Amino acid sequence: MAKEDKEIKCSFCGRKKQETEILIAGITGHICNHCVMQAQTIVRDEVIEKKNSSLFSSLHLLKPIEIKKHLDEYVIGQDDAKKVLSVAVYNHYKRLIKFQSKTVHKDDVEIDKSNVIMVGETGTGKTLLARTIAKVLNVPFCIADATVLTEAGYVGEDVESILSRLLQAADFDVAAAERGIVFIDEIDKIARKSDNPSITRDVSGEGVQQGLLKLLEGSMVAVPPQGGRKHPEQKMIQVNTKNILFICGGAFDGIVRNISKRMQMQAVGYNINKDKVNIDSDNLLQYITPQDLKSFGLIPELIGRLPVLTYLNPLDAETLRRILSEPKNALIKQYFHLFEMDGIKISFEKGVLDFIVEKAMEFKLGARGLRSICEAILMDLMFDTPSDASVKEINVTLRYAKEKLKKSLLNKLKVA
Ligand code: ADP
Repeated sequence: MAKEDKEIKCSFCGRKKQETEILIAGITGHICNHCVMQAQTIVRDEVIEKKNSSLFSSLHLLKPIEIKKHLDEYVIGQDDAKKVLSVAVYNHYKRLIKFQSKTVHKDDVEIDKSNVIMVGETGTGKTLLARTIAKVLNVPFCIADATVLTEAGYVGEDVESILSRLLQAADFDVAAAERGIVFIDEIDKIARKSDNPSITRDVSGEGVQQGLLKLLEGSMVAVPPQGGRKHPEQKMIQVNTKNILFICGGAFDGIVRNISKRMQMQAVGYNINKDKVNIDSDNLLQYITPQDLKSFGLIPELIGRLPVLTYLNPLDAETLRRILSEPKNALIKQYFHLFEMDGIKISFEKGVLDFIVEKAMEFKLGARGLRSICEAILMDLMFDTPSDASVKEINVTLRYAKEKLKKSLLNKLKVA
């Protein structure tokens, strides 16, 4: 009896002390190394399950019309791109929900990924659209620049480094990153340079396109946590890209020539009215097809993995004017707020905003130029007034705006 009492066992599996490697003592019982390992697996699976369901509840799945409404609050115009993106994102997340529900039926239809490619001049809102979509859906988002990528073994970054950014955006929460959105900017810069007379390898062109394929289609990828180039001693994080939505953007300078060639007309100049089709020759980008991307130098496999193609319109003066004051976080609203925080009410004389737009058009800086011009005009006020308690109201006159811009460095940037 006394001997039995002394025999220590695991309180969970009943293994005797000599049958275990470690037997940990608690207040009223013991646990062996086998049970600890088993318990750890149970806890981990439970935590992952809980996290997955909370990730889903944090995902705001809106209907396409609602997604577009949100986009309208931040992005002016670009209705076609907004519509296409809203549907692509909605379908992508429906696919995710299906994946998550784990209810596999015999005749289940697998929904393909809807990675997107957006073509449009720089500064027309491609990044803004992608960023806004990620914000609406409440998923991790990152921007990667295709120009820094090179084929493995060459100076530059590995394609996998794109995912390092997403991991960082998700605070290294792999499950969250695996539902994120990646925006790959300047995808046009990795086009195949077929007419390149150089005999060197096309390491930053076709090689990178090949490298991107496996990310886009969905596979397990070993990601260097800090990005850059992979090296053997580094600990890698495994990321499954199956449910990551990739949105690519590029200006594709000169692609209108391909489009126009395809449409058998000159890029600028005249309309063909044959077949009673009215062609808007000022904005040929709207007629873009995957075939044009191929003629530009994207490989067919890459185009195939970016099945949703859309375009952005160039920004005219009217759109720029609206961008200045209409979006939820419009520049002018931001300045109102900044001055308000110092107890100052700022207003702009009639004509000032039109002047800013006129200059942005003149400098050919697009929507990005609006910010630089506003900064140039308001810099002295933002420097002086916070220290001057007597200033309660400022009215920026047209004369003041013209004078400040004339003196600024920006004026020297004038594009010929
Ligand atoms: P892209 O990615 O096409 O080069 P961005 O999305 O980075 O251009 O746009 C640059 C900036 O210009 C954005 O931060 C945004 O403030 C502004 N902008 C551009 N297009 C629009 C638009 N259609 N509506 C609102 N703001 C815009």
